[in-house]
Amino acid sequence: MPRRVSSLHILDKQVSRRSAQTQADFSWWPCRSGCAGCCETLAEEPQVTRAEWTRLKRAVDALPESARGRIGRVLGRGGAGASSPGPLVCPLLESSSGRCSVYAARPLTCRTYGFYAGRSGIRACDLVIEGAVERGAERSVCWGNEDAIQRDLSRECGPARSLSWWWNHPDERG
Ligand code: SF4
Ligand code: SF4
Repeated sequence: MPRRVSSLHILDKQVSRRSAQTQADFSWWPCRSGCAGCCETLAEEPQVTRAEWTRLKRAVDALPESARGRIGRVLGRGGAGASSPGPLVCPLLESSSGRCSVYAARPLTCRTYGFYAGRSGIRACDLVIEGAVERGAERSVCWGNEDAIQRDLSRECGPARSLSWWWNHPDERG
């Protein structure tokens, strides 16, 4: 397995352990597959490294033709934010089911969302933050370190670019 791909798997596992521990500690924790509020209100397209893009692209290529075509059209014209300002709907969100169409291959930034915090604050929606506050749990939650995991990802897998950038520069290394 190429080193970058195996490094990505190690980071995935690290995030998966942290989020599973949080869900075990707090049974009310709302993040789960199919809860797509955060995928519908993005500030920008997910930024991913080359190794993540390679995995994502393989998952997109395995989707039914209609889904592939829709994703290709959005990314090909510059991404979800190209035509309208404001919060973005991720092009990889399947509108009929409200689920991520590439959930098993989703980027690390999507895996940490809801469970990690960085210098810019907690990365989670109000459901998570208000849920913690209502239960008086905000001080006992052990948030993962977003800055550290993004630093490790960048060191191991190179620079992160938007989904549409990778789509439109298939031969670039990033
Ligand atoms: S961050 Fe919020 S919207 Fe996203 S999965 Fe968690 S609870 Fe759902
Ligand atoms: S890649 Fe999937 S999990 Fe990430 S924002 Fe898009 S739809 Fe949501």
